[in-house]
Amino acid sequence: MANKNVELASGDQYPLTGLGLWKVPQDACAELVYTALKLGYRLLDGAADYGNEVQAGEGLARAIKEGIVSREEVTVVSKLWNTYHAAEHVEAACRRSLKDWGVDYFDVYYIHMPISLKYVDPETRYPPGWSYDGTPTGKLELEDSPYHQTWAAMERLVDLGLVKNIAISNMAGAMIADLMRYARIKPAVLQVELHPYLAQPNLVRLAQAFNIHVTAYSSFGPVSWVGISDAVVAKCEPLFTHPVVVKIASSYNATAAQVILRWATKKGISVIPKSSSEARLKENLDNEKVELSEDDLQAIDDLDVGLRFADPAGIDPRLAMYA
Ligand code: NAD
Repeated sequence: MANKNVELASGDQYPLTGLGLWKVPQDACAELVYTALKLGYRLLDGAADYGNEVQAGEGLARAIKEGIVSREEVTVVSKLWNTYHAAEHVEAACRRSLKDWGVDYFDVYYIHMPISLKYVDPETRYPPGWSYDGTPTGKLELEDSPYHQTWAAMERLVDLGLVKNIAISNMAGAMIADLMRYARIKPAVLQVELHPYLAQPNLVRLAQAFNIHVTAYSSFGPVSWVGISDAVVAKCEPLFTHPVVVKIASSYNATAAQVILRWATKKGISVIPKSSSEARLKENLDNEKVELSEDDLQAIDDLDVGLRFADPAGIDPRLAMYA
């Protein structure tokens, strides 16, 4: 059974299961992307901030050269980092990511977060990260670039043919409702943290009402946030060993990871799990083969406790200190 696509508002196809590239080390990234494409992945979720776009592009180029995929068959995704929100920096930031990937258009280009940080010249530091001085404890400096100005600059990327679909991430419903009032080109995709502990049913409903496709990140919940949001991680048990998930998995002869991913994809929410092991890449891609029942979906829905691991403006005390 082939993996499924959803159709974005633009009519473009977008795979339900893709590969996330956050925290993939540079020296492993080309091989990982190449392997994933060979296994059948057709969605690569990158970002300038991940610092591995050059290597991701190398993996893509190798797969294209070997005839495994054509450029058109792959949904290549990047994200505008927080330091490039000022309208005059958006195009250059996009062009840098395009150059790094070695492609001449992105299928989807996100605003990574609705947080505008002071510009850092890419010649000085790339990717620039969070603090203005580049140190882990350095001060965060905000910049006066309201979202609507950044969005207008994103729309110009579509006009220029650099990007097919523009998209939003880490946005709450109220901000989306606001954006929809002024967007000339509507957001095609909303990428948010979404897993059984944070199901966000109202946000999903809102996005769907606006014809915005939803992509879940950190589908496996706490595992990705160990060492980053430890206080929140300590509040829950790993999803892989949760009895509800384990029981459903064993009844289908599937893995816990597949059940967690399928819970989202069955509802038409795409997933972009990250893994560096070939066996898990395959396992994750195969989530779409597991047919969960309505009762299974409900049992996993019931695990929702609104537990959020990624909340940059909330969990990073430096932002409140310097706002
Ligand atoms: P994830 O939920 O994909 O979890 C990754 C972890 O799960 C890794 O430790 C991996 O080893 C483990 N894992 C993967 N497959 C497994 C399996 N089958 N069995 C057991 N363990 C498995 O977390 P993530 O990386 O946070 O999210 C996925 C992607 O979402 C990222 O790579 C990135 O592309 C995107 N993302 C976007 C944002 C954003 O702000 N837009 C934030 C976070 C992540």
